[in-house]
Amino acid sequence: MPVLRVALNVPLDTLFDYLAGESDENDVGLRVCVPFGTKKVTGVILEVCASSNLPPEKLKSVISIFRDISPLSGELLALFRFCSDYYHHPLGMVVMNGLPGKLRSNKPVSIETGMRQARFKLTEAGRRVDLSTIPARNTVMHRLQVVLRNEQLLAIRDARDISPRAVKILKDWMQKGWLETVTEIHEAHEVHGELAEKSVPELTPEQSEAVATITAQFNHFDTWVLHGVTGSGKTEVYLRLITKALAGGAQTLVLIPEISLTPQLEAVFRERFSTARIVSLHSGLNDTERLIGWLQAQRGEAHIILGTRLAVFTPLPRLGLIIVDEEQDGSFKQQDGLRYSARDLAIFRAKQMQIPVVLGSATPSLETYYNVKIGRYRCLHLRNRAVKDAALPEVECIDMRLEKPVNGLSAPLIRAIRKCLEQQLQCLIFINRRGYAPVLLCPSCGWSAVCQRCSSRLVVHLQDKRLSCHHCGHLEYFPLACPQCGNQDMIPFGRGTQRIEEALEAQFPSARILRIDRDSIRRKNAWQMILRSIHHREVDILVGTQLLAKGHDFPYLALVGVLGSDRSLFSTDFRAGERLFTQLIQVAGRAGRATVAGRVLVQTDFPNHPLYQALRQHDYNVLAESILTERKTAGFPPFVYQALLRAEAHSLSKVMNFLGAAQNIVKSPPGIEIFDPVPAHMMRLRGMERAHLLVQSRSRRKLQSFLTHWCEQLSDLTKSDVRWILDVDPIEF
Ligand code: ADP
Ligand code: ZN
Ligand code: ZN
Repeated sequence: MPVLRVALNVPLDTLFDYLAGESDENDVGLRVCVPFGTKKVTGVILEVCASSNLPPEKLKSVISIFRDISPLSGELLALFRFCSDYYHHPLGMVVMNGLPGKLRSNKPVSIETGMRQARFKLTEAGRRVDLSTIPARNTVMHRLQVVLRNEQLLAIRDARDISPRAVKILKDWMQKGWLETVTEIHEAHEVHGELAEKSVPELTPEQSEAVATITAQFNHFDTWVLHGVTGSGKTEVYLRLITKALAGGAQTLVLIPEISLTPQLEAVFRERFSTARIVSLHSGLNDTERLIGWLQAQRGEAHIILGTRLAVFTPLPRLGLIIVDEEQDGSFKQQDGLRYSARDLAIFRAKQMQIPVVLGSATPSLETYYNVKIGRYRCLHLRNRAVKDAALPEVECIDMRLEKPVNGLSAPLIRAIRKCLEQQLQCLIFINRRGYAPVLLCPSCGWSAVCQRCSSRLVVHLQDKRLSCHHCGHLEYFPLACPQCGNQDMIPFGRGTQRIEEALEAQFPSARILRIDRDSIRRKNAWQMILRSIHHREVDILVGTQLLAKGHDFPYLALVGVLGSDRSLFSTDFRAGERLFTQLIQVAGRAGRATVAGRVLVQTDFPNHPLYQALRQHDYNVLAESILTERKTAGFPPFVYQALLRAEAHSLSKVMNFLGAAQNIVKSPPGIEIFDPVPAHMMRLRGMERAHLLVQSRSRRKLQSFLTHWCEQLSDLTKSDVRWILDVDPIEF
């Protein structure tokens, strides 16, 4: 009897063997329901073997193999294997995590919901069926066989026209392996033909150049970085590339960061590609919607798949192009469980399929910038705004050391808001609200306490008047005076933001103020309503956080005020500066998009900080170079590769003991640095105490082989009351 090796959603890095009555190689990639302990669970067949290493009496039999949908392709399984190897996460969990919820359940996919759009075709086995074995009185079966043999393809609605009972018969035949669903793209040329009728802007010279360069290399793998200032028309470049992909009958995967962006981009795509099938995959879908989209992608019927990070695991038999918009965005990295980077997996998929992947951004991540610099990625620039006469906004700093702010608002900002309101234009007050740990700062010279061993900023622990490094664990007492200027009045910096909205209401009682945060967009369609009211000028002042910074066009927005950004300059997180710069560039990019000139005012105590200087000049490269130099000296990514062993338990001592033991079970091999365990930035979360241990190396290969070896040892070490996970290429500490 054949033995199936099955991936199951259990935290053990192994496949499970089961006996199957009838099965062969072709079943690899199918789902299968098996007994596991006292339960029934569903997994995916990864191998079909002649025998097992287990003694036969230990093997159980499968309950059923699901033949309701086509098996997962070899490419998709290879992606799962890579993901499991690279992130050191059990293969079964990776596979099951990548599937829509309905495919993880113990039930077959209902033909009604899952296959609404399917077309069926007889398999070889189906063709060989002897019609005389079908009872003559079963006319429906005969009709179906005849239609399938003559017409080749049968859509489910046509089957239903033959008889309401036809669907059930098709389902049985699927189970028997007589039928398969068909993947074919018919509309590609129609899509192309339709283009001319829509109003499509003429490309700017920079856009044309970018499109021409990438399309000239369309059948190769290359990682392209589309580095374009805000408003430079990156979307139009994507649209042209997708047109090209459609014309060649290929599917395009578009990954985007935020759920709030999906409806707008989807609308743009639908307008441009009115006959193409566009599938949008994001967390706002219910299980059935997600499944239908996934199946359309798998059958090759969906031309464009637009989705957030999880969409990177969508099966795409004709994948021809991948686009990752806002590639620097942190949301591409999953922050719990399987901590994968969708951007990096997208690059793996592009390489696997030998197709181009385009990473678009106004402010590429430092890793990406570095990869361009060393020639691994190829960069295309859009240096100008696409709309004629739309200039980048003026950025100015308001020196808060000279101001007496009223509830956080400086006089120049209040004046600017007033002027803006008088002209009946909109303004946006952006509050940088990320909670960073307080750092020690000298208000007279700007000195801040840094760790001598790793140049990260020390975190203030007020109770015991100590400073600690959350990177290496170093501890020291507060200095009595500033080591740079002697000032004795040192302050812990980084308190909460004032209630800006109230202050604005008090200042501008007749203005219509709209506050936007995570809560206010939670309801379905809330975000669209908000955008509509902004567009219809029903709002005068917008108050909000990072959410507002991303890719929206606000044509009447003339002023952006930035508050509280200084705290990120002195964060303990070495990526904080990079993130702040990205956010400010994006938020500044909201202003002056069309014919209204834009102005950005940043309230700061440090107007001469290099980050603000770069912002004033809209100069990404200067800042990137300076951050890169810092990172090189400090030995931070992209000059090293990192992995974080994260652990949590009910008491900190347990976590620290576990991490201490983890540190000691291996001798650090040459080229690998293992740091001491330290409490996590957010030490206590949901009642659990958390800590981590950093491992890094200049060689990715060395780090990977160390992690493989280490993980095996860690499994032996695991105690039930400590949970741990490896975070490869962590972006948050
Ligand atoms: P980005 O994503 O680079 O910030 P967008 O793609 O949002 O920029 O484009 C900014 C604006 O420029 C949009 O309103 C878009 O319609 C317009 N646009 C893009 N390309 C062109 C073009 N070639 N000619 C005229 N307008 C364009
Ligand atoms: Zn000082
Ligand atoms: Zn340190």
